[in-house]
Amino acid sequence: MSRTDDLLDFADTVKGFMPREEGLALLRHGAGHGERFPAGTWLEVGAWCGKSAVYLGAAAESSASVLYSLDHHHGSEENQEGWEHFDTSLVDADDGRLNTLPTWQRTIANAGLESTVVGLVGPSVRVAAHFAQPLELLFVDGGHGAEVAWADYEAWTPKVVPDGLLIIHDVFEDPAEGGRPPYEIYLAALESALFVDVEATGSLRVLRRV
Ligand code: SAH
Ligand code: MG
Repeated sequence: MSRTDDLLDFADTVKGFMPREEGLALLRHGAGHGERFPAGTWLEVGAWCGKSAVYLGAAAESSASVLYSLDHHHGSEENQEGWEHFDTSLVDADDGRLNTLPTWQRTIANAGLESTVVGLVGPSVRVAAHFAQPLELLFVDGGHGAEVAWADYEAWTPKVVPDGLLIIHDVFEDPAEGGRPPYEIYLAALESALFVDVEATGSLRVLRRV
């Protein structure tokens, strides 16, 4: 079995909200992009337990790129107690808060991706304000509330280099399928005329900076 096949099987075992088909699209676009622009700086907003980082990390590893995987690790609104995606096993017994960092660390270690996928722990916009490195690839999958999603869009998308990829998750055209903000920032990226559509897979939208 190839390294990529091993990582794909491993990704199936990681908790998260990334269907395999969309994970495969992350891997495919990341790998193709990495081949053209090797040794890039990539960043994902929203790490959770590391599932998307395994797919993107597989592509980053093969192109000697680095993937920063950013999260405050306390979950989004819908992950909190009483909401749809609450998982008791991720609650820190000491302070009662959700904490996905230990699980994320174990995922990256077990995947053998520790020198490719680098964690950034903190609030997204705060990190962005001090992050000067241009990005060859940006994957936006953080908070999906309007305020957070727009803040991420404004803070991170200007860092994407010409020909760089912008990938947005949980984009639902039909409001019945999911929340609006990821769809709205996707539309804003297109309307800015800075990005063009490359491909859609499920709720994943891949764009390229012109
Ligand atoms: N990309 C992951 C899933 C991310 S879930 C995967 O596919 O496996 C969304 C994550 O965004 C949550 O872990 C939550 O903690 C994080 N998040 C939400 N708002 C944030 C913010 N303002 N700063 C940092 N992380 C945030
Ligand atoms: Mg998502």
